[in-house]
Amino acid sequence: MEFLIRELKELEKNGLFRQLNRIVDSSSDTWITIEDRRVLNLCSNNYLGLANDIRLKDAAIEAIKKYGVGSGASRLVSGDNLLHHKLEENLAKFKNTEKCIVFNSGYAANLGLISSLVSRQDIVFCDKLNHASIIDGAILSRAELRRYPHNDITTLNRLIKKFQDYKKKLIVTDSVFSMDGDIAPLEELIELAQKYNCMLMLDEAHATGVLGSKGRGALEFLGLEKRLENKNNFIIQMGTLSKAFGSFGAYVCGSKDLIDYLINHSRPFIYSTSLPPAISAASIKALEIVENGSALRQQLMDNVSFFKKRLLSLGFNLGCSQTQIIPLITKDPILTMEFSKRLFEDGIFVQGIRPPTVPVGQARLRITIMATHRQQDLEFALQRFEKIGRELCLI
Ligand code: PLP
Repeated sequence: MEFLIRELKELEKNGLFRQLNRIVDSSSDTWITIEDRRVLNLCSNNYLGLANDIRLKDAAIEAIKKYGVGSGASRLVSGDNLLHHKLEENLAKFKNTEKCIVFNSGYAANLGLISSLVSRQDIVFCDKLNHASIIDGAILSRAELRRYPHNDITTLNRLIKKFQDYKKKLIVTDSVFSMDGDIAPLEELIELAQKYNCMLMLDEAHATGVLGSKGRGALEFLGLEKRLENKNNFIIQMGTLSKAFGSFGAYVCGSKDLIDYLINHSRPFIYSTSLPPAISAASIKALEIVENGSALRQQLMDNVSFFKKRLLSLGFNLGCSQTQIIPLITKDPILTMEFSKRLFEDGIFVQGIRPPTVPVGQARLRITIMATHRQQDLEFALQRFEKIGRELCLI
């Protein structure tokens, strides 16, 4: 198949060829082992350091002892374990919604949610920088898809007005953008959704566990949770358990009707084997820690502001980050990968992110900070960023 070789060569020529060449041989933590070397991990979404937490590991081990490893089938066949229900009840309480349903991943949740909520006669308004799984869900739904410029409420308003006659209208946004670390203008989005009778779906993958005094996410952080008090709410909250929770899977929280609807219509939920018991048990424990985790969140924010301030003072371009996700924008994919390679040689692991994950001309190192990074870890990294940044004429 000659096209494979031709297209792969083209990727390579443009610095866009992706490889699985950073094989981790340790737990996911602040320091990890790759190719027999200890390197500082600055590109994990394990923001609170829970992925290797003994409490989660013990909970998972106990669940394996009682329930075994696999769940055996999808939830609607024989794979509906008690722990799924416990996790969902706890998540619904945490998010203060009527009900919750867990999915096998954030990708599956976004696909399953969007493709079951809207179809041919409907329309989806989608921020240009939303996660790929949101775009894929919208495409799969066959609804009309309109992408608005990043966080641009004026253009969104104009688009909704123009297309207001569509049967169902869905606005969907990341609440914390996965590659830029900025926060969506949720108050304005809620107002628009209310005004034009749209559903509003929030992807809280990078906000859950991190933002808000209880870690409930961006609505809590922005003081907007009151908007959820109406039981017929038009706001749908989705988030992952694979990032700050240190576990795996995802949730959708909303009204009882919404969740019942998803159980009946969402194909990734219906047609896929359910989450293993060990994962549900670890997520239940993670939620307990997250709810009481204000000290961890404070530590994370202290680390973030320290690191960001120092990188900015060195003259790096950090975009508009407001959170633990810090893009160091080099613009050029080849330069980005060279920066990543030299950092790795100096003991620091940060992945380069290139198009199509980010727009052309926006290649970057996506730095993520963890609550469990120590001051000396961050100092060590800053020295290397400065040295290599100068060598590559970025500062
Ligand atoms: N939504 C956003 C905003 C994400 O960043 C990601 C993953 O990185 C996902 C959804 C998908 O989540 P998962 O990794 O659990 O499939």
